[in-house]
Amino acid sequence: MAIFGVIGPGAVGSVIGESLHNSGYQVTFLGRRAGKVCIERAGMQETVAFPVEAISEVKTVFDYLFITVKGTQLEGIMPYLDKLTHENTVCILCQNGYGQLEKFHIPNAYQAVVYISGQKKENVVTHFRDRILILPENTVTKKLKEIIAASNLEIRLSPDYRFEVWYKLIVNVAINSVTALSRNTALILQEKTVQNLCERLIQEGVGIAAAEGIYFQGNIADEIMNIYAGYPPHMGTSMYYDRVDGKTMETAYIQGYLYEKSKKHGLDTPCLDTVYSLLLASEMKG
Ligand code: NDP
Repeated sequence: MAIFGVIGPGAVGSVIGESLHNSGYQVTFLGRRAGKVCIERAGMQETVAFPVEAISEVKTVFDYLFITVKGTQLEGIMPYLDKLTHENTVCILCQNGYGQLEKFHIPNAYQAVVYISGQKKENVVTHFRDRILILPENTVTKKLKEIIAASNLEIRLSPDYRFEVWYKLIVNVAINSVTALSRNTALILQEKTVQNLCERLIQEGVGIAAAEGIYFQGNIADEIMNIYAGYPPHMGTSMYYDRVDGKTMETAYIQGYLYEKSKKHGLDTPCLDTVYSLLLASEMKG
């Protein structure tokens, strides 16, 4: 039986680990320290708890490793990857943004487009919705999908994986930027000027995608603005929560990735350039 590990027992990692555990797979949750993580759901009394082992202490070598720390936390886990993997270990990087895979020297490493919505406070994860990972379609990912078919973690193999990556990047770029910079929740979408800024960020993202050979049909800006309109006013975004919690934001992998591509193609993206520079400026320390 395959041996699974989840590095980073946070919102995304705990839900992945729970799905595997509940279907009888052997799974270890690896955190900074030994302890436990609890998962709760709105409207459900029951809270489930899983033991967490300290990544520095774990001796197991894993067949499949789900890496679910934030992009900004990758450096902290790199020193342990060698001891946790064998030559055929498959690493699934579960993060927002793109470009992080370049840091990995593991032959079988893939980045998932993540649709698992949750939030971690202390050692409690609140799981809001979804358990979906979208991966590129190949023999390795097909095998993973088969192996965990009995779990409720849904692996979607996409023949058009780059489209999925860019769609999520564009969904993230507008709402994450405006909520993080304003230090305010989705409530700000009630302001028409914020809506206009989001639409322009989305359109700039679509232009960058086209320069990279990814073409979105129809009016994707309307589609994404409709998604935003469905957000409850009190809902934050991952970059908003990082900003208000004083944690480093994943700017480099979302706005920074798009900014680099924009510059590479010589595009005019004034809104992206502005939010990117302000996000960088907001984290500068003297
Ligand atoms: P969390 O902060 O909830 O989880 C990250 C976990 O990694 C924390 O438990 C953290 O521990 C742990 N960690 C950090 N450094 C290490 C280390 N060196 N060794 C072991 N564990 C470590 O983040 P999320 O789950 O929210 O996000 C993970 C990724 O998924 C991000 O890229 C995010 O953008 C993306 N994503 C998140 C979604 C969501 O709804 N939350 C939705 C879609 C994508 P500690 O608490 O001690 O810092």
